[in-house]
Amino acid sequence: MDVTDPADMDGALCREYPDLWFAPGVEDRRRAAAVCRSCPWLVGCGDWAVEHRVTAGVWGGMDPLQLAALRRRRDRAARRGDVMHV
Ligand code: SF4
Repeated sequence: MDVTDPADMDGALCREYPDLWFAPGVEDRRRAAAVCRSCPWLVGCGDWAVEHRVTAGVWGGMDPLQLAALRRRRDRAARRGDVMHV
């Protein structure tokens, strides 16, 4: 599966209730992340969000803090010349 734009991904579970993925409440974000874990786009979606430096919403089962943490780890790995996956 190749992620180009999550909004165009067939079978993405967030398409039916997209507001939940951008809800301000922690519980709603946890519910969204739980749904993500059953989504066929889980890994590609998280990669896409990290690569595009997305700072809002739940992507690939990760909230903004988790996305930022993964982005920092990847940035550090890239500076060291390491290869890192989700
Ligand atoms: S992993 Fe989550 S945010 Fe990404 S497409 Fe699937 S349901 Fe949507």
